[in-house]
Amino acid sequence: MPIPLHDPLHTPGGTLKRLPLRKAAVLFIAAVCLCLCGLLYLQLEQSRRHDLIEAQVASSNLTRAMAQQAEDTFMKADLVLSSLADWIQADGYGAAQLPRLRKTFARRVLALDQLHGIFLFDKQGQWVVTSFDDLPRGAGVADREYFKFHQQNVSSVAHIGPAIRSKKNGEWIIPVSKRVNDRNGKFQGVLMAGIKMSYFDQFFKSFSIDDNGSMFLALTDGTLLARRPFVEAQIGTSLAQGEIFQTLLPKASTGNAMIGSVVDGIVRLYGYRQLDAYPLVVSAASSEDAILKHWYDTAFQSIVIVALVLLGVGLFGWVFIQQVRNGERIEADLREAQEALELIATHDSLTGLANRRLFERAMDIEFGRGARQASSLSLIMLDIDFFKRYNDTYGHVAGDHCLAEVARAIKGCCHRKADLAVRYGGEEFAVLLPDTDIRGAMVIAEQIRRSVIDKNISHTGSPTGNLTVSLGCYSFVPTGRDSLEVFVERADAALYQAKHSGRNRAAALSMEGGADALMRSDR
Ligand code: GH3
Ligand code: MG
Ligand code: MG
Repeated sequence: MPIPLHDPLHTPGGTLKRLPLRKAAVLFIAAVCLCLCGLLYLQLEQSRRHDLIEAQVASSNLTRAMAQQAEDTFMKADLVLSSLADWIQADGYGAAQLPRLRKTFARRVLALDQLHGIFLFDKQGQWVVTSFDDLPRGAGVADREYFKFHQQNVSSVAHIGPAIRSKKNGEWIIPVSKRVNDRNGKFQGVLMAGIKMSYFDQFFKSFSIDDNGSMFLALTDGTLLARRPFVEAQIGTSLAQGEIFQTLLPKASTGNAMIGSVVDGIVRLYGYRQLDAYPLVVSAASSEDAILKHWYDTAFQSIVIVALVLLGVGLFGWVFIQQVRNGERIEADLREAQEALELIATHDSLTGLANRRLFERAMDIEFGRGARQASSLSLIMLDIDFFKRYNDTYGHVAGDHCLAEVARAIKGCCHRKADLAVRYGGEEFAVLLPDTDIRGAMVIAEQIRRSVIDKNISHTGSPTGNLTVSLGCYSFVPTGRDSLEVFVERADAALYQAKHSGRNRAAALSMEGGADALMRSDR
């Protein structure tokens, strides 16, 4: 296993430091974007709520004004009718009274703008006297709702009926009526003041509401009396099934609510108020779109600005991350180059084995480890037999191939991870075997020798006819004060012994027994 010159994990800006930077950048940009979106949402939501609350306040004020106006209008008519009813009850409406009654009726109508006319009907519903000069002719008003009401109810309280068209001139009026009794409380007829619907129409028009807004006056049973915009066909129709009458009014006599119209689908803020003195309800509605128009404009502008900022942040983030990525790529290339350089600096190019530089560093490390663990460290030195002759016979190129083959054979015999095969120089090799005693080293040396023979590299210059190697093994237990040179020299001495005693063999020198001992391998 090659021992690297540097640990890549500890190089400045290494893998461990870079990845979090990219993740942090992505997280930071995402957090900035989220914060911006969150702030925009909060701000828009707050201003929307503010606009709606303002609209609710305006709607409450408007309905209060409408209720006040309606109450004033009906109360004045009520008071007029009350005084007239008292008078008629006291004096009756005989022929002698009629001119005075007519004049009084006319004066009252002149005095109150809202009044269309005042009418007195007898028990059969026929006109007795009116505020107009001439009496209408016709079937009378016995069929009218208000007449039937007073016929059947003894109460002298003013009654407000559904809007009707005046039989006098066809104008839309809202009838306010009172029962007329004689002194004994017997039904004598009905006194009616017609309130011009146009009076309410004018009043409604004096307020500025949006095109989709609406205002109305209705009886508490839901019967529509007046409305803006005025739609004739709707007058007299019932709003009883609407949400205001169905759910809101039963809960509170005044309030407001956002309701989607079942007619046109438009969502409106409805303010409503039931009058205290009369069975009347007023309501004003503004469409949600009109209420929020300013908000929509602001929201659009804010969203565009935030979108542009997000785009900017996103672009900046993208460029930044690209830069980080490029940096990482350059770093990876540099690391690769560094590793390649490291390999070149520590390995031999012809055989791929470790070179002397790495060998010396490895020995240094293993000396320390051996001393700490009191374990044997072995070294095999190997030299090819008669290699000069091989070169002379087959040439240097073949010689180089041969060196590579021998290196492969050596490498094939290094079974443990910690075993290190080295090209020591020229045609000399070394094998460093940590935690291996001399016997183990001899076994490996013998395996290498056999492995080279098994390669069957013919060598006519050798007495065996094949390429062979000689090996010298040395083993000792490091003490912590050992010399690298002595270690190599001892293995070299064993190699010399192998050469000297006939080559193609392994010899061993061991310090394990306390003194150097020489062993030779059997062939
Ligand atoms: P011995 O059995 O005693 O070792 O005899 P030998 O001829 O092998 O002698 P020696 O070990 O001194 O041989 C060294 C020769 O190895 C010299 C040179 O021709 C050859 N040699 C050294 N390095 C290289 C190399 O890188 N390539 C090649 N082709 N030959 C080399
Ligand atoms: Mg040699
Ligand atoms: Mg040699």
